[in-house]
Amino acid sequence: MATLEAKIDPYIMKRAFLFAVGTGLVLGLCAQSILLTSARLFDGEEMHKNWTVIIEGERITYAGPTGRLPAVTIDSVIDLGNATLMPGMIEAHGHLLLYPYNEMPWNDQVLKEAQSLRAIRGAEMARRTLLAGYTSLRDLGSEGAGYADVAIRQSIEMGIINGPRMLVAGRAIVATGSYGPKGYAPEFDVPLGAEAADGQDLVKVVRDQIGKGADVIKVYADYRWGINGEAMPTFSTEELTLIVQTAASSGRKVVAHASTTEGMRRATLAGVSSIEHGSEGTPDVFRLMKARGVAFCPTLAATDAITQYRGWKKGVETEPAEILQKRQMFRNAMEAGVTLLAGGDVGVFPHGENAREPELMVAYGLPALAVLRSVTSVNATFLGFDELGKIENGYLADIIAVEGDPLENIEALKKVVLVIKGGKRYR
Ligand SMILES: [Zn+2]
Repeated sequence: MATLEAKIDPYIMKRAFLFAVGTGLVLGLCAQSILLTSARLFDGEEMHKNWTVIIEGERITYAGPTGRLPAVTIDSVIDLGNATLMPGMIEAHGHLLLYPYNEMPWNDQVLKEAQSLRAIRGAEMARRTLLAGYTSLRDLGSEGAGYADVAIRQSIEMGIINGPRMLVAGRAIVATGSYGPKGYAPEFDVPLGAEAADGQDLVKVVRDQIGKGADVIKVYADYRWGINGEAMPTFSTEELTLIVQTAASSGRKVVAHASTTEGMRRATLAGVSSIEHGSEGTPDVFRLMKARGVAFCPTLAATDAITQYRGWKKGVETEPAEILQKRQMFRNAMEAGVTLLAGGDVGVFPHGENAREPELMVAYGLPALAVLRSVTSVNATFLGFDELGKIENGYLADIIAVEGDPLENIEALKKVVLVIKGGKRYR
């Protein structure tokens, strides 16, 4: 990456300066200004050629055609050559406190590792996430690590560690009897990967989680507790509604894990903001979600990873039923026109490889431009990041650059050569 290091381009420097002097509008004595230029720029909506960005302090002060540069002095210029500038990517579904299940089974992560150990590892995973070009992350559950996600978010905000901007769910909520770790003698109460509650008690649990720092409430609308261990609904629609209403009082949204059609249906009727996974999503349930304004986060990369952990040799063997089902439900979601979030359930697979999800979204049929929007402006709007997800005048300067053109080859998202968050360069 040495060839892409910051270098002063005398032509652009001189041009910007002369323009500034010529119009008598020399500004910019307050904050350091950086000019970014590259072969192309995706602004969160469209791909442009010959565009330039100017950052002053933590904000973007210009994004537009290079020929119309405004009258400001430029302190430094970063020429990224053939790279593509784009908004910092946003992960809609991750778990910094988990790591790949083929390295350590989920049960052992929850039961055998101290929360302190998990929190320290999570800090390192936050750093990897940021360096992979993901400048924001919705973390959907600490999976038995208490409120360590809140601590990681605070550590990043305080500048103690480097990581993405975060929204965190804390412990998450499950129905009694449904969640794991499972398989222990019934006389032992084994600590769970989330907080169990039911009926009216849900009100107190939602409020308690909010009080302890949850930005969003995560609920498991179904889980693998059927007679044969298959996924089946957990909470009633009434219980889910109670959770949504309690969270809404505080201005918070509810996110539902749901793989079954019935779990998705109940969560949608209850008014959750997004549904995660959706493996059994039918055309009907996606149409219901569309009508109710519920977004969908397909977590294609998690299924892809877990299926490989179970023995599937990707690229060698034909795709097994789980993958074919995922492809079909993703087509159902696209056809229904439901809002598609880019979130892979990273943690199931290695942190820093978040771009596996956009890659699979393209592989499963979503056009690359729609995928780029999903991982930037669509995710930002959905998550309430009003000043993120676009490269636009006045927005916060969360900007990355990737080698090549991601519209031509989505794998470009894995080749991150520049990461700026809030005007500060991290890579
Ligand atoms: Zn998850």
